[in-house]
Amino acid sequence: MLILPFSLCVRVAVKFRRVSRLCSVHHSSMTSSRIVVMSGPSGGGKSTLITKLFEEFPDAFAFSVSHTTRNPRPGESDGKEYNFVTRPTFEKMIDDKGFLEYAEFSGNLYGTSKKSVENIAQSGKICILDVEINGVKSIKQAGLKARYIFVKPPSLELLPTVTEALATSLPGSYDHVIVNNELEIAYSKLKGILIADIHQLQKDKMKAKE
Ligand code: 5GP
Repeated sequence: MLILPFSLCVRVAVKFRRVSRLCSVHHSSMTSSRIVVMSGPSGGGKSTLITKLFEEFPDAFAFSVSHTTRNPRPGESDGKEYNFVTRPTFEKMIDDKGFLEYAEFSGNLYGTSKKSVENIAQSGKICILDVEINGVKSIKQAGLKARYIFVKPPSLELLPTVTEALATSLPGSYDHVIVNNELEIAYSKLKGILIADIHQLQKDKMKAKE
């Protein structure tokens, strides 16, 4: 049986239209500081920031690879950026309660599998989730304690759907908003937010070795 590291009931939001679905997750062994939920529009530099974190702290973080029904883009490979699946496969996972959360975004389904988060919890690393706005709101409303970070590109006002989503979703949904005008500055802000968790993780590892 799948035992997951925290209690969670997720109300799933489908792009700008709420539907009620509950995913139950049992047990609690992961501390709140070990999950980081990153969000922000594609092209806003979120992936670059995450990659930089992995480069600087290769032992501290693990990325939860989501499932999606969208097609791979050039350069993307199955199991790395996403687990690319068909809609029937995704729907079967929904029926089997395999997702912590899922949402429909631009006509495609995206979801965080329970197994992926569980595996990272077992590795002891800090789990990074990349989740769109409605998924974040749903997870947060369900009470998952984590660090919620929004990466905002400088040209956000050019993206009306995102602006609309922000107007309804931002207040209270994020702990931090990083404006990515300049990559190095944005990265140092991200690092500043996470450095205490990284140090704690390193201390925990040292203790475990003693
Ligand atoms: P893209 O297709 O550009 O990779 O991602 C589109 C959107 O889906 C992004 O905003 C990304 O954060 C979001 N996304 C990726 N994985 C998940 C997931 O597992 N759950 C949810 N709710 N959104 C996701």
